[in-house]
Amino acid sequence: MNSRRDFLQKLAASAAALPFLSAHHAFGNTELPHATAQDPTLRVALMGLGGYASRVAEAIQSCKRTKITGLISGTPAKLADWGTRFGVPETSRYNYENFDRIKDNPNIDAVYVITPNALHHDQVIRVAKAGKHAICEKPMALNAIEGQEMVDACTKAGVKLLVGYRMHFEPKTVEVVRMRAAGEFGAIKFFQGQCGFRIGDPTQWRLDKDLAGGGALMDIGVYAINGSRYMIGEEPVWVTAQETKTDPVKFKEGVDETILFQLGFPSGAVASCLSTYSMGYLDRFFLNGEKGFAEMQPSTGYGPIKGRTNKGELTQPHVTHQTLQMDAMAGIILDGNTPPVPVDGHEGLKDLKIIDAIYRACATGTKQELNLS
Ligand code: NAD
Repeated sequence: MNSRRDFLQKLAASAAALPFLSAHHAFGNTELPHATAQDPTLRVALMGLGGYASRVAEAIQSCKRTKITGLISGTPAKLADWGTRFGVPETSRYNYENFDRIKDNPNIDAVYVITPNALHHDQVIRVAKAGKHAICEKPMALNAIEGQEMVDACTKAGVKLLVGYRMHFEPKTVEVVRMRAAGEFGAIKFFQGQCGFRIGDPTQWRLDKDLAGGGALMDIGVYAINGSRYMIGEEPVWVTAQETKTDPVKFKEGVDETILFQLGFPSGAVASCLSTYSMGYLDRFFLNGEKGFAEMQPSTGYGPIKGRTNKGELTQPHVTHQTLQMDAMAGIILDGNTPPVPVDGHEGLKDLKIIDAIYRACATGTKQELNLS
């Protein structure tokens, strides 16, 4: 028996005996302990009090070790309203001009940046300069140059940079990743990631290239990009891509409506992905190996995620993604825990490098080599 197969068989045997623990050991990482109310609490300031921040704020109410202790917004009425609702005193409410003063606030450990994509770069760098950890929404920035600058700024300031990749903590997703790492699907050959929705209001920032940085690829295609990496368990080495547009009035120059892209991995595995702003309910992952498959639909929405493998239904319970994410991030920031799938700035940067390459492939019609090391 070759040593790899031997290793995978041992892994599978230990997986059967210790299902949760081995999920994390399969990556060579430590297990993320379950949060308890006795653990130190991550005190977070939310920046950008819009739609997604509302969801995060509600989810934090069920967290065991995360609480909202600061707010940053350009709208005074929102600061007052959210401050009352979440018990944040006026002394911990800031606007976009004065939030650098957060450095003098001992009740804030981290800032969660939940603003339009184009603002992430400058805001994360200001957070780092204020000496606070940064959690940044996806996509981490508009391109890899910006992403690298954010990683460098956080390293220089000695603070952590995490990206809001909530799926990395979602139980059914983690189980499929565990099964793949344990060799239960055999050698992986193929991944399909299809992500899209029908976007409404044509005046929203998501359809403004200056604020969004692109179109569906930046916003929703990033789930297929990121998913292909954690589902296959390798880093892609090439990409090809094709763009199509049915509504050039709504989707202006530089705002992609639909992009098809293909990724090639060192083992020879391939991924075939689609991102779109013009198809309803498109949210599907499919992973196929020599011995088995996993199929998830919905695969990246707020849940419940549904899925099955060749061994049967995935039955892990649904927990609000952002509650799991924030308590896990408390452990990463305060205890130095290592999650099963990374959520740090380097992880966000790899996805930005792939996004850059997909846009180059669309523009040139040529295959782009990738070097994500
Ligand atoms: P949103 O439009 O609902 O909220 C954006 C907030 O930013 C608003 O409160 C707005 O007032 C504020 N803002 C500050 N400066 C602004 C400016 N110059 N122009 C426009 N708005 C400005 O958007 P959202 O859906 O909350 O998205 C925010 C971020 O969160 C995006 O990066 C998005 O990709 C990300 N997001 C992530 C998820 C996820 O599941 N992880 C889901 C939705 C959105």
